[in-house]
Amino acid sequence: MSSNHGSFLESVSRNFDKAAAHTNLPKGLLAQIKACNSVYQMRFPVKIGKEYLVVEAYRVQHSHHRMPTKGGIRYSQKVNQEEVMALASLMTYKCAIVDVPFGGAKGGVKISPREYTEGQLQAITRRYTAELIRKNFIGPGIDVPAPDYGTGSREMAWILDTYLSMKGGDIDAAGCVTGKPVNQNGIQGRTEATGRGVFYALREIVSYKDDMAKLGLEPGMEGKTMAIQGLGNVGSHTGLISAAEGGVKIISVAEYEGAIYSEKGIDIKKLLKYRKDNGTIMGFPGTKKMKSRKDVLEVECDILVPAALENQIRVDNAPKVKAKIIAEAANGPITADAEEILLKKGIMIIPGMYINAGGVTVSYFEWLKNLSHMRFGRMEKRFNQNTYNNLVSVVEKLTGKTISQKERNIITRGADEIDLVRSGLEETMITSYGQIREVLKRKKKINDLRTAAFVSALNKISSDYLALGIFP
Ligand code: NAD
Repeated sequence: MSSNHGSFLESVSRNFDKAAAHTNLPKGLLAQIKACNSVYQMRFPVKIGKEYLVVEAYRVQHSHHRMPTKGGIRYSQKVNQEEVMALASLMTYKCAIVDVPFGGAKGGVKISPREYTEGQLQAITRRYTAELIRKNFIGPGIDVPAPDYGTGSREMAWILDTYLSMKGGDIDAAGCVTGKPVNQNGIQGRTEATGRGVFYALREIVSYKDDMAKLGLEPGMEGKTMAIQGLGNVGSHTGLISAAEGGVKIISVAEYEGAIYSEKGIDIKKLLKYRKDNGTIMGFPGTKKMKSRKDVLEVECDILVPAALENQIRVDNAPKVKAKIIAEAANGPITADAEEILLKKGIMIIPGMYINAGGVTVSYFEWLKNLSHMRFGRMEKRFNQNTYNNLVSVVEKLTGKTISQKERNIITRGADEIDLVRSGLEETMITSYGQIREVLKRKKKINDLRTAAFVSALNKISSDYLALGIFP
């Protein structure tokens, strides 16, 4: 296992070096950007039944050029230091790409959450948080965790409560973690954010006629076929939103227990309910069982969405990938060696450090909400509504014509928090892609989106360092 995870960090490093060669930045500055600034490795005991479990856990802060640092917490048996370092590094580049003013960080707890009860998971989460507090590795201005693989809003609420119990009186305490439940200082739209961001990005990317023509595709989302690996938070929302708002047809899905296929398309909402009721996706009506769960990666489709874990597409299966576009919803699903093979095949790879940045973007909105102590839209919603109503009334008076109440309601609606969050996310994904595509067009020697995204990130991070005066 460790060699695989070692290669994840190595892949990130190779991708970094490939992009660095396209910049004129000084070597030392590049080395500083690349290095993980702080690595906190911990072991702590938790009582599970009658036994004491010694938990191995990490928090890595990759870059402090912007504060606080930010990144999710992963619960997985496969967690190790190199993996957390790789993920923390990607967070720095990701934040830079989508103009979220944080440094990158990541946490990892080496446990398989399935093996523990809710109470035991709570004990582990609280103890992990206490360790972070003790070493000053968490706080609204220091380091702000969020959900990742194996964690969700429930764990974030426990983290907040532990922080509050030890840091009572910190008025901004709610900003110490994001991805919290909405009724616990969270924000509307955070749970779906990464998947929704993948959708907004894809919709933008496939709208360029010339780019699609190179792949032999028509522009637009409608009717495109999609295969999804991993139906967790990111995979399920990507599927649900792409189908509902983009008219995409999901023809294959893989989960832990196996993979299914249907030429006619799979209804993700019904599949999620089926899995909840039956504990598996296998046997979902209207679908065929595939030989292995890995087969989803080799399905002939327009868009492949790996949304499980890193190192899924490697040299062994890369030649068999038949998708035209790969949207890296997961972090690091393609190894550096596999990427070379895929690019030679003419496959468009949309790097995770851009396409899965919706989560951190909305986490940023949540953090801003926590610091402002007010939900978005509270001040202006009614004011805007009244202004639009007055406008419509004036137009009606001047023209002598009236519109229906239904039309009036649509035109005069003031924005709620969810509308503003989605609008901010949409704006972020579209603007960032414009920046990446611009690098790709401008730098003739760059011919892949990952390198272009990296160059965009390196330019932004280096300008921060230079402005800080660290490299006079
Ligand atoms: P999750 O735990 O909610 O879901 C992951 C799913 O993948 C699980 O249901 C799991 O059973 C399944 N899975 C694991 N191995 C698999 C395999 N080999 N084949 C098929 N299915 C498999 O996790 P998530 O939050 O959706 O994260 C998924 C990926 O997206 C991770 O790489 C994570 O780092 C990345 N990511 C998550 C977020 C976020 O906001 N949650 C943001 C950015 C990136």
